[in-house]
Order: sequence, then structure tokens, then C-alpha cells
Amino acid sequence: MKRNRHVKIVATLGPASNTYEMIRKLHEAGADVFRLNMSHGSHEEIRVRHAMIRQVEEDLGSPICILADLQGPKLRVGVFKNGEEMLEVGASFRLDLNDDEGDVNRVKLPHKEIFDALEPGAHLLVNDGKIKLRVKACGADFADCEVIVGGMISNRKGVNVPDVILPLAALSDKDRKDLEFVCELGVDWLALSFVQRAADVEEARALCKGRAAILSKIEKPNAVKVFDEILAVSDGIMVARGDLGVELPVQNVPPIQKQLVRKCRAAAKPVIVATQMLESMIDSPMPTRAEVSDVATAIYEGADAIMLSAESAAGSFPIEAVQTMDNVAQEVEADPTYTEIIESSRKAQRNTVADGIVAAAREIAEAAHIAAICCFSQSGVTALLVARERPRVPILALTNEIRTARRLCLTWGTNCVLSGPVDRFKDAVIAAVRAAKAENMATEDDMIVITAGVPFNTPGSTNILRVAPCAERLIYQSESE
Ligand code: PGA
Ligand code: MN
Repeated sequence: MKRNRHVKIVATLGPASNTYEMIRKLHEAGADVFRLNMSHGSHEEIRVRHAMIRQVEEDLGSPICILADLQGPKLRVGVFKNGEEMLEVGASFRLDLNDDEGDVNRVKLPHKEIFDALEPGAHLLVNDGKIKLRVKACGADFADCEVIVGGMISNRKGVNVPDVILPLAALSDKDRKDLEFVCELGVDWLALSFVQRAADVEEARALCKGRAAILSKIEKPNAVKVFDEILAVSDGIMVARGDLGVELPVQNVPPIQKQLVRKCRAAAKPVIVATQMLESMIDSPMPTRAEVSDVATAIYEGADAIMLSAESAAGSFPIEAVQTMDNVAQEVEADPTYTEIIESSRKAQRNTVADGIVAAAREIAEAAHIAAICCFSQSGVTALLVARERPRVPILALTNEIRTARRLCLTWGTNCVLSGPVDRFKDAVIAAVRAAKAENMATEDDMIVITAGVPFNTPGSTNILRVAPCAERLIYQSESE
């Protein structure tokens, strides 16, 4: 669906939005990508949601992207005799592998791998970082800790161990089953939680076998440390600020967000800024000024996409939250300062012919008041390179691969339409002109820039750049030679 903005919006589905009507309204309001959170819902429920999204896609006639988010190795404590206990600052608290219900002195932590990796001095964070423990002494099946920051601890609360690279399998048994299920169902992106190293991504890719593109969620300190390696083997990135702000001091999150967004743009891989963007809209129809500013910041930084989690999955105002993001995006992108920032942060890359062609396409489009840049892209690579240029005019990607069209819904500024197969450049020009007009991106009086690779259907072969008039009477004339 053609939007009046470049940045894309990802909306997480959940109890507040799991119906055909809501999915359709969210898409019409601006959601380009729907996220299925595999931490919640049975396979049967996921199957129904998936089918509803595909139905909306068919009914509205424009590609919609589905991102399945795997839970990953999330650690949790066991249960307490009283359901909960108050941990006082300075008290001792033991974590162990003992099956007995917990009390104020101890609780089970059913992950043997953690005890093998812990060392005295390491920190454990419980319940989104609200409680902080420091390991005083540990062995193969226990860790004696001091309570550094106290608070209520209760059944099955999540545990983060930021200082330690855990020898945990990147994918749990549940993740493997979920991965196979969603790949067979047909999702466009697979998000991996708690990625710690490039090998984690490669492991998932081997199982995925090209059925979905792979997005790594950056939410562990080690993932930030080895980010370049992770980026190199990923198709996209999520700045997962929720867990990242627990595993690292919260003040580290904004600079990391900025660095990651820049690196992803340079690599021509889409990046999502996620979590708590409009948190107060879970209960209120109006966001706080600080939240509006946070959404705006991500857009000014040049992120490909911004994401709603609980706001659209479990809140009272999912549609309003999408509309808020859409409004903020339109306002920011109309600001001359936005264009200035985006253009001054462009890094010239001239490693390949394709790099040169997309840069030239952008320059021509700026100089000659061209209405759109159209690219023919089977794999999507050329479209990603055009998007990296962050041109001022709309990008229209034509592909005959529905999977490519859907995946590109996550990429900044890229509008995708399905085209029939084209074998000759002449037919490509005609198809591009007609599609640009049909999408209301160009009129009879405009011109468009077209890039393609000849021979067609050879990924990475971008080698043609053409400026074509859109007037119907000129199409055949200019392509007759
Ligand atoms: P989650 O990931 O919502 O699956 O935890 C996002 C984040 O941690 O920010
Ligand atoms: Mn997370």
C-alpha cells in the first residue's frame, strides 16, 4: 500500500488485535508489517492469524509482510511456596537446581548451563532488571548471591545474565519446532531473540533453508560487541531495546541505537527500532511528548522501521498507536532538517557497478525533478541498494516474486508491486511507467528513473539506468530503437 512516508511501521498482533477486522484496520491505518510473537499463542492460533493477514493482503491487493519472532533462550526462575517473596537489600539469596519450592532464602533456577558459566562477581537481573543479585560463590549446581537491589520476586520471573556469554543453545527445542512451523506456514521474516554470536544466526539459517529472511534481535551485550559479525550474516536487525536496557545500563541504549541504525544503512539491510515507543498508549489514547520525541528520533536517525509491541498487541488503542506513528512520520519527513540529516549521513559506496548505478539514479532524480525511481529486482538486492541512498523521491520496486515484494515491506521508502515476467528492457520501461502511474507516483507530465539488470533474472546484475517520460504517447516512441 502506497504511504505518504518512508519509514515503515511494524505492529505486533495479540489479544487486542487478533481479528480480521482489526488487522485490516491496522493495515489501513499504516501497519506495513505484522509481527507474530511466538512466545504467546499455540500453533493453531498462529495459523489462524497468519491466514487472516493473508486474507487482508488478498482483499486489499497489496503485499503485506509477516515477521515471526522466536522466543529464544529466555531464562526463568522456578516457583515459590508462597508464590512470591520480598528480597531485602544486603540479604543472601541462593539459586540452585533443587526441585523444592522456593522461599526467602532460595529458589530453583532450572538452567544447568548458567551455573557452569557463572563466576563470582557476575550479576543476575530478575524481573526485567528490577532485582539485582551479585554472585558471591558458586558451584556446579548453586550460586550464593547478595541482593544488591531488592524487591518482590515471584513465580517464573525472567532472569538476565548480562556479564556472561551463556553456553546456551541459540534455539531451544520450542524454537526449533516454532521455526519449522512458521517456515512451512510461509512467513517473510524470522526474528531471532537473544542472539549472542554470528554462529547463532548461521544455525537458524541452516534450518530455515531460504524460506524466510533472517532478522537478528540485538538485546545482549555480546551481540553489541560482535555486531559487525552478526550483521554480516543477517538480512536485517532489530534494536530490541526492552531486553537491551535490562542487560546494559539504560543510558547505553540510545548511543547503541544510533550506531546500529547507521551500520545497517551502510550495509543496505533493514533495521527496526523496537519497544516502548508509545508505551503509555497501552492505556491512553494520547502519547506522552517524550514518546513522540522517541519515535521522531528513530525516524531522524534513518531507521527503516519503527515497532509497536504491547501497544498494538494488548493495549486499548492499537489503531490510535499506529495513527500516531504515521502522523509523527509524515511530520518529521516533511521537515527540511530531516532531509539534511539523512543526506549528510549518506556514505558514498562505490564497490560495485550496482553501487554506482543507484547513486547516479538518486542524483538524477534530485536534479531533474523526477517523480520516482523504479527498479526491477528479483532478489530485492537492487531495491535495498536504492533504499540505502535514501532518495527524496518514492522508490517503486517491481518484482515477479511475491516473497521479495513482502520482504521489502520492511525497507525504508520501498513500495513494491508485482509485475509479470519481463525479458526485454523495452518491456521493463513500459511496465515501470504504467506501474508508477497506477500507484499515483507519477503523472503523464513526469519522468521516472529506471534501473534494471540485463539479462533479466540474474541477481546482482544491475547495469542499466534510464530516464523515461511517462506520457503514454511517448512510451513506444522512446523505446522503439
Ligand atoms: P521482545 O523483544 O519483545 O520479544 O522481548 C523486544 C525487546 O526486547 O525489546
Ligand atoms: Mn526481547
